[in-house]
Amino acid sequence: MSAEITDIVKHSPAFRAGVKKGDILISVNGHEISDVLDYMFYSAEDRTELLLKRGEKTLKKVVVKSEYDDLGLEFASFLMDDKRTCCNKCIFCFIDQMPPGMRETLYFKDDDARLSFLHGNYVTLTNLNDKDIQRIIDMRLNINVSVHTTNPELRCRMMNNRFAGEKLKYLKMIADSGLMMNCQIVCCPGINDGAELERTLDDLSELMPNIQSVAVVPVGLTKYREGLFPLTCFDKSGAENVICIIENKQRECLEKYGTRMAFPADEFYLLAERELPPTEFYEDYPQYENGVGLMRSLYDEVVQAMEGCNENISKRKVTVATGKAAEDFHRMLAEMIMDRFPQVEIRVEGIINRFFGETITVAGLVTAGDLIDQLKGTELGDELIIPKVMLKADEPVFLDDLTVSDAEKALDIKISSSANDGFEYLDKILGISY
Ligand code: SF4
Repeated sequence: MSAEITDIVKHSPAFRAGVKKGDILISVNGHEISDVLDYMFYSAEDRTELLLKRGEKTLKKVVVKSEYDDLGLEFASFLMDDKRTCCNKCIFCFIDQMPPGMRETLYFKDDDARLSFLHGNYVTLTNLNDKDIQRIIDMRLNINVSVHTTNPELRCRMMNNRFAGEKLKYLKMIADSGLMMNCQIVCCPGINDGAELERTLDDLSELMPNIQSVAVVPVGLTKYREGLFPLTCFDKSGAENVICIIENKQRECLEKYGTRMAFPADEFYLLAERELPPTEFYEDYPQYENGVGLMRSLYDEVVQAMEGCNENISKRKVTVATGKAAEDFHRMLAEMIMDRFPQVEIRVEGIINRFFGETITVAGLVTAGDLIDQLKGTELGDELIIPKVMLKADEPVFLDDLTVSDAEKALDIKISSSANDGFEYLDKILGISY
């Protein structure tokens, strides 16, 4: 495959070597390039020979640079190839349970091993073959895998894919090659919890030390499940059982391998009404992006931030809005902050998710519509603080495509968002800006 160079970074190594916008890249160090991984892998050396087509001419350019420095070439698409879509129809797929009419990109079911390496996405391994796995091994790419269960027959049923079971063999191939994997299990009551979860954790621990971590997250069910596989949400005792199974396995792994390996998502502790585990429980937070340890880390940082805060804080009243699940947790943080700063009044509002359905309680799925409907006419104080996860990563836009400024106008209040970072959270609440 050849790829057109759509832009070139000024004064980059390739720019200095005379590569031009519009050139067609044919090969790098004699290797044809099929995608961005090939491009990154073969151009890592300090002396890189590019074979290019410019008009009718074929030419060679030698780029000299430090090892692993980027050449400075840009292509029409980031992957230099189409994104790989998934070939499953998982019984718990969140995308299948979304209401119609949302932005198109939210319906895209990606399952692309390249995005696992580049962005940390989780992949099921179901659309990979032996050659793809060998490439991952040859390139030494660590990968994040959605395992769900190691029972092959159950995996086929859960993913509605008759090949999903046999693809589990790749876990062992990857582990035997010495690469590391982070894994996730979407846990569904009565399906892959209980004895099945024990089996999965046992099987994964057989691959230690090449399993870096395993996040177990509860299935999320929206109100848009008509015609889909009948699933239920975890209740208090179901969540308690999941925690017990994981904590038993953790004790064994800690003794054998010096790491707990598996971690329950924060939601399980909320559902089970259990106290948050201590800081050391989360080790170095390997599954933070998967919602594991967010509350513990936020709590610890707020405590630290309060200890180090010597600012003069003015009288102020703010509202913190979050999802229903974390409402009590934020109330506890608010009380702690108000004890230390009595001049600050904090009100916490847990927003019921009417958009997706009331069983969806996480902050990241709260829409502006629900925020506005439920807070309109409420005395919100000087500022409304929302978690950053309610917004698109790169734009102040909610899931229902309303913007922060739409919500500000509707509620007639300044809205600011805070990352899950106790220092930023405290600054926003106290009105400290630098
Ligand atoms: S792998 Fe399963 S859960 Fe993920 S997008 Fe595909 S169908 Fe949905």
